[in-house]
Order: sequence, then C-alpha cells, then structure tokens
Amino acid sequence: MKLYQPTPRYDLLRTPFIGRLLRWRWGRLAGQALFLCVALLMLYDGFTGPRLAPTNLATVITWVHYRGFVMFALLLAGNLFCMNCPFTLPRTLARKLSAHSSRRWPRWLRNKWTAVTLLVLYFWLYEWLDLWASPWLTAWIIVAYFLSAFLLEAFFAESPFCKYVCPLGTFNFVSSAISPLHITVHSQDVCRACAGKECVNGNGDVLGCGTELFAPQMKSNLDCVFCLDCARACPYDNVALAWRNPLAEVRHPDAWPRRWDVTMLVLVFAFISLSNAFGMVPPVYQLEAWLMAALGTTNEGVVLALIFGVLNVLLPLGLGVGAAWLSRHLAGRREALRLTLARYVPALLPLTFAIWFAHYAGFHFLTSALTIIPVTQNFLLDVGVGWFGQPNWALGPLLPAGWMDPFELVVLLVGVAASFEVVNGRARAANDPFPAQLPWLALILLLAVAGIIIMFLPMEMRGTMFG
Ligand code: SF4
Ligand code: SF4
Repeated sequence: MKLYQPTPRYDLLRTPFIGRLLRWRWGRLAGQALFLCVALLMLYDGFTGPRLAPTNLATVITWVHYRGFVMFALLLAGNLFCMNCPFTLPRTLARKLSAHSSRRWPRWLRNKWTAVTLLVLYFWLYEWLDLWASPWLTAWIIVAYFLSAFLLEAFFAESPFCKYVCPLGTFNFVSSAISPLHITVHSQDVCRACAGKECVNGNGDVLGCGTELFAPQMKSNLDCVFCLDCARACPYDNVALAWRNPLAEVRHPDAWPRRWDVTMLVLVFAFISLSNAFGMVPPVYQLEAWLMAALGTTNEGVVLALIFGVLNVLLPLGLGVGAAWLSRHLAGRREALRLTLARYVPALLPLTFAIWFAHYAGFHFLTSALTIIPVTQNFLLDVGVGWFGQPNWALGPLLPAGWMDPFELVVLLVGVAASFEVVNGRARAANDPFPAQLPWLALILLLAVAGIIIMFLPMEMRGTMFG
C-alpha cells in the first residue's frame, strides 16, 4: 500500500486564476494587508469600544469568527491563517533591522518545548482571565502578538516566532496534518540538479522559506506557514501546492520527527481539545468550588492551574507513556518508548481535530456566526456611520441550536473512525500484531467518550448575546 504521494496529483498553483493569484509576488502581502485592517479595527474597538464582549469587534471576531474560520480553512484547504497572518507583516522592516545579524535562535530552544509550554499557559490564562469576556485584554493579546513577532524577527536571522513560539501557529501546524493541501515538488530530479536551492535560500527578490523547510524533502505541513515564498523563489516552477488524501500525512510513518517534544505536542494538543471544552461546562465550576474548599484558597488562578496542570500535562504524559509501554510490550518489541510513541501518537490527530472542529466551528461559530452583523452595525454607529441602521441583536445562528448535538456527534464519530484507521495502518506498516493497537484504540475511545459527554452538557456560548 502506498502511504504517501509526494508527486502532486493536482497543483493548485497551476490552476488558471487561483494559481496566478497565489503566485503573484504581492499576493500574500494583499491578504496580510486585509487581515491587518481587520486587526486594526479590532484594536480600535477593543481599546475604545463597548466593554460588553458580545458587542465588541475584538472579542466577537477573535473568539467566535477567527476560531470558526480557522477550523473550516484547515479542513477544506490548509493553514490559510498563517498564510495571511498580519502579525508577520512588519517582517520586511524587522528583517532590514536584522540584515547584518547572524544571530540564530538558541540551539536548546530549537524544538517544540517552548510551543508546548506556551500552549498550556495560553489555555490556562484564557480560563483564568476570562480573555473571551474582555475586549481590552483581547486587544492587548493582539498587541503582544505584533510586538513578539516583530522583536523576534528583528533580533534573529530566521523566523523563530512562527516556528518555535506562536501558539496560534502551533495550533495551525498540528491541525494542518489533516489538511488536504501540502507543499511538494513536481520533480525531484530538477531539485537534485538545482544549484541555488532558491526555495529555501531566496533569490534576491523573494525571501526563501522563513521556517527553513526544504520543499523537495517536505513530508508534512508541520512548520509550514503556507506563505508560498518557496514557489515564488523557485526558478524552475517546480514547487506545487498539491491536493492529497487528508489522512496521508498522519498515516505516513516518517512524516513527523520521532522526538519527545513533537510527541508531547500532539498529546497535549489532544487533551487540551477536551479541557478547553470542559472549562465551559457546569462540572468545572463544581470541581473548582470543591478544590477551593479542599485547599482553603479562593485564588481561582491556582485552582485552574491545578485542574489544567492535571488535564493538560499529567494526563497526556501518563496515558500516552502508559499506552506506549503496553503497546510495546504487546508487540514484543525492544525499542525506546519514544519510538513507540512516535509510531502511534499521530493517530490521535484526526479525533483531536474533530473535537476542536465540533467545538469551535460547530458549537461557537455555527450558532453565532451572524453576530458579526449587529456588532459591525454597532461599531459603525459608534464611529458616526448610521447608514446600516440599528443592530438586531437577535441575529446569530447559522444553524438551529437543536442541530448541534447530532452535528457534533457525527463529527466526533468520523474522527474516531479516521483515528482507528490510522492506528491500524501504522500497525500494519510496522508489522505490529493487533494486540499492540489495543492501548491506542482504548485511548482514542476514552478521548471520544469524554468529548461526547462534554459536548452534550450545557456549554457557555461565550462571546455572543446568547451566552
Ligand atoms: S529552488 Fe526549486 S528546483 Fe531548486 S531545490 Fe528548491 S524546489 Fe527544487
Ligand atoms: S515550505 Fe516554507 S516557504 Fe514554502 S509555503 Fe511552507 S513555510 Fe512558506
């Protein structure tokens, strides 16, 4: 069975109109400029607009629309947010400042541990500070993103912000493992004969790959921001943005590096998908109250750190390592646990994506997408533009709320089936016997059942008038 198809079957860059648009030298800049305008509006409203989150552009766009659109984009195309990311727009200026710098991101930080840590911290802060409820804090997060991206670009001679730091990029990198588009090349022979390797080195006019990926050797979407600089820089028109089977990457045994940091990133990402939804249902408040009484504290930050420390760090580590130990034992292998983990952990990704999708795209976006209309009307009224009338705050759902439970159930079941299929494919590729799959199938079932229970509980809407 051929698990991965490096030769493009269909190259989006060679389609008549879209291909030219994507390859256009200023194409990415145009997308980033558009997103920058939206970010500036969000900043303006976040700092000066209404304090009530469901009526403010900063909170509604960030916590309802951004998350929903990202999930649909990842499912239907790929990492389109990073492609149009406004935070890296000042990169050219920052690069000029760092033009004579040869500073490299420290070797001991050239891994995913920083990203894992920031992901855990970010979701803890999100709950503790109720970021979704504060336009002001949301605006400050946007400012922090711009500053961090600019400073890291200016200080280091590569793009460490995207590759090693940005929690949004990390979310998109991991999720885009199941996206149907990926970067590859048409001919490996052309690449072998290519002297300049402009796709990674740049060609004078166009920068090479900022995250230092080499197109002919790419096996995954990990670290690819879809900027398409490689395609613009390649003098042989050899880079492709190709369609693939969305499960091709997670099935491919060598697609991801077999490292602890990468494995932990996937495990933590899987458990955060549940804990983030758990933070919005009634049992979390009962658990918080019980812990506060038991610990004799009223500090919510401490209690949430305890809850999310267990859910997002200890459980993924314990259950992941436990499943790997058992799987290795049942396979009769003598190998490092790191290798067993790397073999099976990517199989969690389809279900993990399904949980995020059901939560962000299903529950939050489909039940609240139209809120953008009254919020925009309200913003325009605030700045003195009354052409679009008074806001109708009843606008919101794209789908009736009663459809959500069946929708989320179907999405999660598709995720379970895809993850089972990947476990099976990976076991067969490694010649592991069926019993070696059992711990992973059990872990997937456990995550799925937890996901279904949480999704079926009453959940806070967050960011809309219906909350
Ligand atoms: S610049 Fe083009 S031809 Fe050269 S190595 Fe990169 S993708 Fe291959
Ligand atoms: S491989 Fe590098 S240059 Fe090409 S799209 Fe991905 S991040 Fe951009």
